[in-house]
Amino acid sequence: MSRRFLSIGECMVELSQAGDGLLRKGFAGDTFNTAWYVRACLGPDWSVDYFTALGDDAMSDEMVAFIDKAGIGTSLIRRIRGRTPGLYMINLKDGERSFSYWRDSAAARSLAADPDRLREAVESAEVVYFSGITLAILPHEDAETLLAEVRRAKAAGKLVVFDPNIRPRLWSSYDIMHTTISEGARSSMLVMPSFDDEAAHFGDDSIEATIHRYRALGAVHIVVKNGAEGVTLNFAGEQTFVPAEKVEKVVDTTSAGDSFNGAFLARYLEAGDAPAAARFAAKVAARVVSEHGALVVREKLGLDGG
Ligand code: ADP
Repeated sequence: MSRRFLSIGECMVELSQAGDGLLRKGFAGDTFNTAWYVRACLGPDWSVDYFTALGDDAMSDEMVAFIDKAGIGTSLIRRIRGRTPGLYMINLKDGERSFSYWRDSAAARSLAADPDRLREAVESAEVVYFSGITLAILPHEDAETLLAEVRRAKAAGKLVVFDPNIRPRLWSSYDIMHTTISEGARSSMLVMPSFDDEAAHFGDDSIEATIHRYRALGAVHIVVKNGAEGVTLNFAGEQTFVPAEKVEKVVDTTSAGDSFNGAFLARYLEAGDAPAAARFAAKVAARVVSEHGALVVREKLGLDGG
């Protein structure tokens, strides 16, 4: 039986400008992007599954087909009659990107509303990945359900991985955001924050402060991403710095952190060497920021060389 990596969250319909007022349709979302890169980088003895909720409309069908085509398992996805996926649009004005979202009534908000289904999915996996965005979109009781499930998985010795991905706009208050993100970290083995978010929203004045805060909560391993600077790993107390790769021309930083997480986890699961996994992930993320879009195809990731 293959080993299963399970990513839990929301994948949205993405509309981007295609010129002449035309829009191009795609699919993306932080936890899905990470699953995409795990799949691209991890060998065939692992299955990668996505856990979310979708509707029963044509757009939900198309998204499932897209996920499936990426080699990511869709059998655990909850389908809810009469619902639809969330949607966002990337606006471009004078070279600056901004985002508009239609996600308040997205089916994904109900992904944890069927606790038995969620439990079965988590129990079937060896690695469980979720994010602060996953928690932010859920009604409060459902976020509690998800947290209880991942705590159970952690207690059972599974690798539970959490990216805080702090998005204040998705939370009803700073207080709830701080408490719930901290609970997400406490329920995880490995936390993968981005330093600029942590500094802005938790007031951390250094990478050390971020590491200390998450370790104090009970996370065992921490990987702090810091853009073009590189990453600092603290694995069971042992600290290593891994610089970012030099990038000639940064084209689009969308999903830099998601791709780093995916590549890191894939390599870490295969070889168990965290600093080596971070060096590999820095190469993959460097390719991702050199291309347009959140999802860069395997052929363009330069995997064979490194
Ligand atoms: P996030 O997208 O979550 O904010 P970061 O900006 O920290 O994450 O980027 C994640 C990873 O992507 C970094 O650790 C680095 O490896 C790579 N990366 C991001 N920006 C650059 C850049 N300008 N040059 C090279 N690598 C980069």
